[in-house]
Amino acid sequence: IKDMADDEAIQATNDDASECKRYAVQLGYWCDPFISLFVKQTARKAPEINRGYYARVKGIELFVDKFLKLSGGKGQIINLGCGFDTLYWRLREAGNSSANFVELDFPSITAKKCYHIKKHKQLIDMLNTEDGEIRFSTTELHAANYHLVGTDLRHIAELNNKLTQAEVNFNLPTMFLAECVLVYVDASATSSLLKWLAGKFSNSLFVSYEQVNMKDKFGQVMLSNLRSRGCLLAGVEDCESLETQQRRFTINNWEGTSAWTMVEVYDSLPVMDRNRIEHIELLDERELLIQLLQHYCIAIAWNGQTFKNLSIAQG
Ligand code: SAM
Repeated sequence: IKDMADDEAIQATNDDASECKRYAVQLGYWCDPFISLFVKQTARKAPEINRGYYARVKGIELFVDKFLKLSGGKGQIINLGCGFDTLYWRLREAGNSSANFVELDFPSITAKKCYHIKKHKQLIDMLNTEDGEIRFSTTELHAANYHLVGTDLRHIAELNNKLTQAEVNFNLPTMFLAECVLVYVDASATSSLLKWLAGKFSNSLFVSYEQVNMKDKFGQVMLSNLRSRGCLLAGVEDCESLETQQRRFTINNWEGTSAWTMVEVYDSLPVMDRNRIEHIELLDERELLIQLLQHYCIAIAWNGQTFKNLSIAQG
């Protein structure tokens, strides 16, 4: 029962993320015409939080763009713990799709996502349907190059089946995205997942957005950081530092890895864009933003030559 309560609390973190994103979009931090189709409420947040979300979304987009360029339209994107992420529709709108786009989350979340997609013609119309067919169930949706499937990332055999059903080709260049997800998965399940993916996909890029620098000056994991919305952050031990974030890839057979705090990611974003968003809301204490950004990072890992040594440098 405790595990089920934890799983429910974990699933609720998607509401938080989506509501925060919707609020920042409403204020004009970035453009996303689709998020309001998935979430009606907004969560009013402080300026530093909105800027943090801006850096998170732009930081991930940076690697998505690099992946799409390097894979030359032949790549597939697999969004682990996708929640209500609108990336697929944002890419379609920008005319930048991947060969296949697969989204995975607990069935209770994919059921809600399916419901919202079915309800909005605008979302359905943007699904690529070469053969004119979209297959729906309560928890899953399959179109020509978009698949939404319900699964628990801790169960590898089921994941394997679901990826096959989603027409994933294990030989194509593949990008995995885990945005604020692995921290909710315990360390041994994350290890199994990363090891399995490394063995299955020889030409791949993993992009992970996570908490980092979670220990205080006495070396203790900060207690307030152990729980988020009532659920245990099971993977928090891997969030100690950039090195521990990278190590979990290397010990699980990924060939190379890099990691940056969100301070570095934020500072690498184009000056014009930063100037624009810094004028949306006043932030008297820049220190508040820095403190927040220091506790999050983007860690990447790659297998094969195509995505070797990618960095946060623009262009
Ligand atoms: N990636 C989305 C984003 O950034 O907007 C959602 C982030 S939300 C904080 C974390 C998501 O990970 C939730 O939707 C949750 O259900 C999913 N998740 C956590 N553990 C999972 C697991 N074991 N299997 C599948 N999904 C999981």
